[in-house]
Amino acid sequence: MNSSDRVLALKYRPRRFEDLVGQSSVSQTLSLALDMKRLPHAYLFSGLRGSGKTSTARIMAKSLLCEHGPTSKPCEVCPNCVSSNSGRHLDVIEMDAASNRGIEDIKELIEHTKYQPSSARYKVFIIDEVHMLTTQAFNALLKTLEEPPVFVKFILATTDPLKLPATILSRTQHFRFKAIALKDIIHHIEHILNIEHITYEPKAIELIARSGHGSLRDTLTLLDQAIIYSKGHITASCVTDMLGLIDPSLMERVFEMILKKQDTLDIVSVLQDYETDLIIDEMGIYLKQQLLSKNMLFNSLIIDRFLRILGDSKYLLNLNSDGEFVLILMVSKMVEAVKLKTIDTLIKEIEKRNCEILEAPQNVVVPRVEQLQQKVVEQVAITTPKEVYEEEEIVAVNEPEVGVEVAVNTQVEDNIADVVVQQLQPQEDVSLKHYQNVIKTLFERSYDLGNCFEQNFLFKGFENQPRTLHIISIAEGDCKQLLWKNFAYIRTVIEDFYGVGTLIEFHKQNPEDVKKKLLDDEDSVKEELKEENCNTDEVSSMIEEEAFGSGCVADIATLQEPKMASKEMQLNELLNSAFVNKAKELFDPKRIVVRSRI
Ligand SMILES: [Zn+2]
Repeated sequence: MNSSDRVLALKYRPRRFEDLVGQSSVSQTLSLALDMKRLPHAYLFSGLRGSGKTSTARIMAKSLLCEHGPTSKPCEVCPNCVSSNSGRHLDVIEMDAASNRGIEDIKELIEHTKYQPSSARYKVFIIDEVHMLTTQAFNALLKTLEEPPVFVKFILATTDPLKLPATILSRTQHFRFKAIALKDIIHHIEHILNIEHITYEPKAIELIARSGHGSLRDTLTLLDQAIIYSKGHITASCVTDMLGLIDPSLMERVFEMILKKQDTLDIVSVLQDYETDLIIDEMGIYLKQQLLSKNMLFNSLIIDRFLRILGDSKYLLNLNSDGEFVLILMVSKMVEAVKLKTIDTLIKEIEKRNCEILEAPQNVVVPRVEQLQQKVVEQVAITTPKEVYEEEEIVAVNEPEVGVEVAVNTQVEDNIADVVVQQLQPQEDVSLKHYQNVIKTLFERSYDLGNCFEQNFLFKGFENQPRTLHIISIAEGDCKQLLWKNFAYIRTVIEDFYGVGTLIEFHKQNPEDVKKKLLDDEDSVKEELKEENCNTDEVSSMIEEEAFGSGCVADIATLQEPKMASKEMQLNELLNSAFVNKAKELFDPKRIVVRSRI
């Protein structure tokens, strides 16, 4: 037979130990044993099909028979080597135990062992698939295997060593052949294709190697097939067609749509051309590749969620033969998994909302129908790709020139015309609630501290610009000392509720005056606030100078008055400005929020 007519698995069958692919530890041990002439009379080679067991057995036989041997480097030219290579050596007896498994076959083999080798120094018996022998055959072989004539060597090969009786295992030197690593197989295929002058796409070779599942013989058989199918130039699409695999570009498209939470029904209908079982396997392989290549879009959390969904789908597929249904469910679950937010993200959002409430706008424009539903105004800046997937619902548009920001809700389709100007819940109520929370937190830390704070620090008011908490202090004696000692902590708690950087202003008062003042209404409290702020004598030395600065709050308040008067006009101008109109067109918003940024 012409060598070019032979299949690749036979044509490129290894003839030397160094040609063995991916079995370096086995070939190294056998080579050393040959060179040191430490040769047991029976070997057992076990491992996956196509991992090189039979090839190694033949190389071993040749090495034992070579005229210059036994050697790990047979000469390849002596008559023994030549006839071994051609598979016609009389002293190398190969037996397939799968087809010759009975006691009669073994008896015949034992008979052979009694005669001297015809030309070489050893008679080598290679028994392939030895686990297929019957129990009687094994028993018949035992005696010979234990004490064969000195010129006899046994090499047993099996894919399933667990099926061998312990008596056989204990009489042989066991070598385990591992599944050949993917990179070794790829390297070997490339080597063969270069010799054969066949061009290829690296992706195609990877697909073929992967489909061989660690068996070199299977891989080379597929390669033979691919060379014919692709007419000389092996491409990834040819290989996927031939093997019935999913095209990698299709898989990329599927996951792109899932990550973007797009409608996946169309792509699912394309995937239905493939077996659902195969799709699940291919998706698993694809995700593994993304994890190894450190693709930023696939963080380990997403891959973990996807992998669980794949596992569940495989289980469902076993229960339910309707692959199409399982496929649709699987893809839908993956889209849902992308939408899930992590606990960290949720905590950040809640923190952000707390800050937003503190910075609540003066006037809010809300459509009537949605007033109850929309309690919190959100502003989300798009920063990282990860956040794009999680928080794309609300887009914020800033207009720094006029000092306002317009938050536009893109989700709802209501008409912008149906809006009313609505006053937010009074700021004072929210700040008072925060104040109560501060007291509660201090009580949780220490009863004395909470009690001192509650009795001696009374809520006076809260200003937004700058964010300042006004507290009436009637603290004296031990309580004053305790509060001062814990001031750093109190400040932290206040910042927790009112936002970082909140200024605290104390107003020293007599306890009697305070009782009277508590009876006054809110307006009068505000009046006092202005008066006291201007009266520096009354402001306690507890004011933190560096935080408060040299400005007078009352002055700022007065300055704000005219602005408030013209605010409504400004608001109307703003809502009808070209910029906002453009934003309305673009986003078709449900709600526009105008915030003051003075
Ligand atoms: Zn030789």
